Amino acid sequence: MSQLHLNRYIRQVQCAKFGEESQQRLQTSRVFICGCGALGTTLANHLVRAGVGFVRLVDRDLVNLHNLHRQVLFDEADAAQSLPKAIAAVEHLKRINSEVSLEAIVADVRPNNIDQFAFDVDLILDATDNFETRFLLNDYSLKHKIPWIFAACLSTQGQVYPIIPGRTPCLRCLVPELPLPGSVPTCEMAGILGPVVGVVASIQAMEAMKILAKKFDSVVPDLIAIDLWPFRIQQIKVQSLTTQECPACHLGQYDYLSTVGLSLTTELCGQKSVQITPPCPAKCDLDHLSQQWSTLGTVERSPFFLRLRSAGWVLTLFPDGRAIIDGINDVALARSIYAQFVGM
Ligand SMILES: [Zn+2]
Repeated sequence: MSQLHLNRYIRQVQCAKFGEESQQRLQTSRVFICGCGALGTTLANHLVRAGVGFVRLVDRDLVNLHNLHRQVLFDEADAAQSLPKAIAAVEHLKRINSEVSLEAIVADVRPNNIDQFAFDVDLILDATDNFETRFLLNDYSLKHKIPWIFAACLSTQGQVYPIIPGRTPCLRCLVPELPLPGSVPTCEMAGILGPVVGVVASIQAMEAMKILAKKFDSVVPDLIAIDLWPFRIQQIKVQSLTTQECPACHLGQYDYLSTVGLSLTTELCGQKSVQITPPCPAKCDLDHLSQQWSTLGTVERSPFFLRLRSAGWVLTLFPDGRAIIDGINDVALARSIYAQFVGM
């Protein structure tokens, strides 16, 4: 390693468990961070500072003022310009470490485009806000034998789970089916505290560094679950959850790489509206959601639907999980609104 590099990363290299060889492996590694919100910005901050060779950030959303309390790479100017999150993040990251090769892509990660984001990386990092995309990452990872790290945060709680194809149970061993629409609370409904995401993403970044350094025996084989309010960290053993019936890691059925298992999104002809239909009709608890939405905008409950009016759009949700979002015709934005306010 050149003297210049050694100086920059000397405190990392000095860690006996890490060392110069790990640093060199990091610098030739390629990572895809799926999502650039709170988890994605914290992950990117750690990994770019640590000297990972190539980082690709993919996100479909724009920076908003209410992101700033937890999304550490953005500032008020990014929010005022409503910059795409991936673009704004890379602009900041370039100034942190000019030696890292960075790529920003503004896109909704779907079965028909995931290959272009993930085909050439050593590791996929989950920084999304929905299980539909996580199931897609899980299938892609297993099919192409690329490790990935699941992470999720809500309120004061979070989880991290590294998945190494062939070594660990996969996400569908733990969560066999996509949660029903409206059954999983979202950050929009339950809130989220910044330090919780900081801890979760930092654990995820640490496991990422071990995987990239090929220190597989040091990777935590458990589901890590934290709650920072009554301070609690648990390591939940999941090895026994692997099952011969898992459609993904045992039977090799990658339902989420096709459109079979995914929600259908359609632009409604002649209207500024997008319809989202979940893969299986659900029984949504509209009364429960109605309470959750009460602080988020104007809520209207009829015997047939639940409606939320927000600045710029109106979301109408039916009991079977189908939704129509009026006021926009951007499909990626509609999917983002569904993930945030209905959840899946
Ligand atoms: Zn599995």
